[in-house]
Amino acid sequence: MTTPSRDPSLADRDPEIASLIRHEDERQRDKLRMIPSENYASRAVLEACGSSLSNKYSEGYPRKRYYEGQQFVDSIEELARDRIKALFGVEHVNVQPYSGSPANLAVYFAFCKPGDTVMGLGLPHGGHLTHGWPVSITGSYFKSVPYAVRRDDHRIDLDDVRRLAHEAKPRLLFCGGTAYPRTWDFPAFASIAREVGAVLVADIAHIAGLIAGGAHPSPVGHADVITSTTHKTLRGPRGGMILTSAQYAAALDKAVFPGLQGGPHEANIAGLAVAAKEAATPEFRRYAQQVVANAKALARALSDRGYSLVSGGTDNHLLLVDLTNKSISGKVAAKALDRAGIELNYNTVPYDPRKPFDPSGVRLGTPAITSRGLGEAQMEAVAHWFDEAVKHAADEAKLDALAVEVKAFLGDYPAPGILV
Ligand SMILES: *Cc1c(COP(=O)(O)O)cnc(C)c1O
Repeated sequence: MTTPSRDPSLADRDPEIASLIRHEDERQRDKLRMIPSENYASRAVLEACGSSLSNKYSEGYPRKRYYEGQQFVDSIEELARDRIKALFGVEHVNVQPYSGSPANLAVYFAFCKPGDTVMGLGLPHGGHLTHGWPVSITGSYFKSVPYAVRRDDHRIDLDDVRRLAHEAKPRLLFCGGTAYPRTWDFPAFASIAREVGAVLVADIAHIAGLIAGGAHPSPVGHADVITSTTHKTLRGPRGGMILTSAQYAAALDKAVFPGLQGGPHEANIAGLAVAAKEAATPEFRRYAQQVVANAKALARALSDRGYSLVSGGTDNHLLLVDLTNKSISGKVAAKALDRAGIELNYNTVPYDPRKPFDPSGVRLGTPAITSRGLGEAQMEAVAHWFDEAVKHAADEAKLDALAVEVKAFLGDYPAPGILV
């Protein structure tokens, strides 16, 4: 038997994994991390996630469990729920979904039968797979009628959403996306949903932190159900959650457990409780505003260098750059930028003539770099490095030199949660 004193550390037990994690820590320390769905969770959040809670089974809900030994887990899950309810001003929350995708799947299970019709923003226009895209289970078990953004200004065409909704009479109407740089008009979606008798689901995975910090309008009071991840702009651990009113609480809880999942990941739920406490502070409100201010400053700095932005700019934390006029594909640019110390992802742009595996655009955002304390003044430098990397995408020595510059610059901006 292994006694605690003989229980080796990770570095002793498994130097291979320990070393890989250390390299990942250094990578996250040394790069401009600009994938807009990513962030730095605080050391406090990460500590909660790496705790003994990972050992515990707690199927059911607080005070109604199927296993003994819930003396502390119940209080933890209750704290997480109470803090999220207070943060967003909702009547009910379920913090057990393992991630954003299962949270959405639970909503289907609560409201739909296979074959029912659902509507969401199409994936190539910035929607999410789980909003009914064909390769997803949601597009194969349900009939999906995607809506689009307009060709000219890349904004969601609400007239088109209304027309399609009246035709298709969807059971679920999703609003929210992964690559939409503009504000979601929740009241407008709510009236369309009401007109056709659809359940309106606001998927705020990307913008939950902006909403919590008052930097994007809230869907509360408009959407019937709100789903989210917890690890994007909210800066929590990986996870998902469902927010709703008392009316739908029981149906959604039942859909999560026992409908879709077994035991909840209480370590991550503890991390979420910590993140919700952090997000309720004035400091977090300033953070959320700064994320948007930085994205706007970066949009200006890139436009000044001749880059074409989908929809002409941004209202939130993310930018989609259409590289067509720069004669470089999104994938080639993304790989060059990564080598130069700027981590982002290649992405389709609306009405992209190229294939999804090598599309015309790149997607980037400011949540993680803002967590390190970069402000508007630093966005000029970021745009400069971005431009240099795209211009010299074929010059490996130049890209490596840029990465050295980026790393030196970031030495002044410690990354939360990264202890190397
Ligand atoms: C990220 C995201 C999801 C999925 O979350 P996972 O945690 O990756 O499963 C769902 N919806 C939207 C809009 C997202 O951006």
